[in-house]
Amino acid sequence: MNPFTYQRVSDATGAIAAVAGDEHAAFLAGGTNLVDLMKLHVMTPSRLVDVNAVPLAKIEAGRDGLRIGALARMSDVAADPDVAREFPVIAEALLASASPQLRNMATIGGNLMQRTRCPYFRGDDWACNKRMPGSGCAAAQGEHRNHAILGASDHCFATHPSDLAVALVALDAVVRVRGPAGERSIPLRDFHILPGATPHVECALQQGELITGVDVPASDVAINSRYVKVRDRASYEFALVSAAVALKVEGGVIADCRIALGGVGTKPWRTPEAEQVSRGRPAAASTYEAAASIAVAEARPREQNAFKVELARRVVVHALTTLGSTR
Ligand code: SF4
Repeated sequence: MNPFTYQRVSDATGAIAAVAGDEHAAFLAGGTNLVDLMKLHVMTPSRLVDVNAVPLAKIEAGRDGLRIGALARMSDVAADPDVAREFPVIAEALLASASPQLRNMATIGGNLMQRTRCPYFRGDDWACNKRMPGSGCAAAQGEHRNHAILGASDHCFATHPSDLAVALVALDAVVRVRGPAGERSIPLRDFHILPGATPHVECALQQGELITGVDVPASDVAINSRYVKVRDRASYEFALVSAAVALKVEGGVIADCRIALGGVGTKPWRTPEAEQVSRGRPAAASTYEAAASIAVAEARPREQNAFKVELARRVVVHALTTLGSTR
């Protein structure tokens, strides 16, 4: 076991001060991923700063949109009636995640920070550029059926595991953070970083910055949204492919469209070209097929995960067809 210190804090200022200047410190919220990885010796912080008492768990829906505190529990957000009514894709993505027990513990901020489930990342006997930069990538010659077909590099092609982040990126969510230099906002589409040559760098957070919340702007497309997730078993499983879609149809024509993919990208994968081709076209099968094909046009599959290209295309068509028929 690696020794570490443990400290509880009660406000964001104290939390940020507690990790300032210590690159081996980590914030502890629900702990459902961090503690897991500490047991596996994948993450070895020397200091844990427990932020659970920091008042950042509010869920507020208003005219400007939805504000979710970083420490709101996944189960509370999923059960919020405003979220379920106005932003169904978020509620559905949360309910499709993990298990009820994990959702009761895991937080929204922690969900965005969770690490990949690539099996080679989670075992210290394997080469893994993400866990140990420069060591190689065991998945390239090993088991990679679940790995990414979009956003990969020669150094890493592990998928980002979050369902929630896929729904949030489809709705242009923004991550609020606070650190030693003050507060700032990061669009979620820029929050997670492609692996490139540095797959161990996974997000735009600077050392010492704490996620304080997530804002989802008001839009008239979010209310007609859904999350479709395909996985190997019905519950407690990560996505092989998922799609967060939202659709606004006026007079049979698509006025607005959002499409994001999960389970296929090295980060939550928004598809602006597919959305663009949909706008102004009939809400019909031919449009959905065209959009879905464009959504996966840049896919670069390997031998074991080639099936994801067609699966992702079909999931997008299914999700759009379902939404289109409700309007
Ligand atoms: Fe590590 Fe990424 Fe390769 Fe998995 S795909 S072994 S996380 S470098």
